[in-house]
Amino acid sequence: MQGRTHLIGGLAVGLAMLSLDRFQVPLEKSLVCLTAASIGSLLPDIDTPESKLGHFVKPLSLALNKTFGHRGITHSPLLLVILYLLLEALVPDFHNPALFFAAGMLSHLVLDMLNHKGVPLLYPLPYKFHIASFRNGSLEEFTIRMILYGACFLLCLHHVMEKGLPYELF
Ligand SMILES: [Zn+2]
Repeated sequence: MQGRTHLIGGLAVGLAMLSLDRFQVPLEKSLVCLTAASIGSLLPDIDTPESKLGHFVKPLSLALNKTFGHRGITHSPLLLVILYLLLEALVPDFHNPALFFAAGMLSHLVLDMLNHKGVPLLYPLPYKFHIASFRNGSLEEFTIRMILYGACFLLCLHHVMEKGLPYELF
């Protein structure tokens, strides 16, 4: 899947979480949570130097790619859990953003499972799993991206109708 599909997927998941009563996130923290979800949604492709995130940290990206290959450890639930626990442990008062980060990363894994290359859900075991065989940049991916844009729009609309416009941000 393309970076922009992953990004809008992470935002959709983040917005959906914000709309849940379980997360009573104040407005100023909402942006931190959405940023965390966005970074989580892009992070797995850091193992590709041409990806949106890999582009900014090319030496690390090249090292990850050479060591683990594309869709290796960075696409594993194992790393997701490790990073979530690290964020919880190392960054005080970061509970919600850590959850949003993990959810964003999970959205990446789910979207990549729609492609035949699959995702190593049982890493370090070498098996990769997929649930569909949509090609990168295909009409199917475009359709999924449009649905995710629609979901983001509806979730923003829901938020504004429930809480009003976020004037305090301007
Ligand atoms: Zn990926």
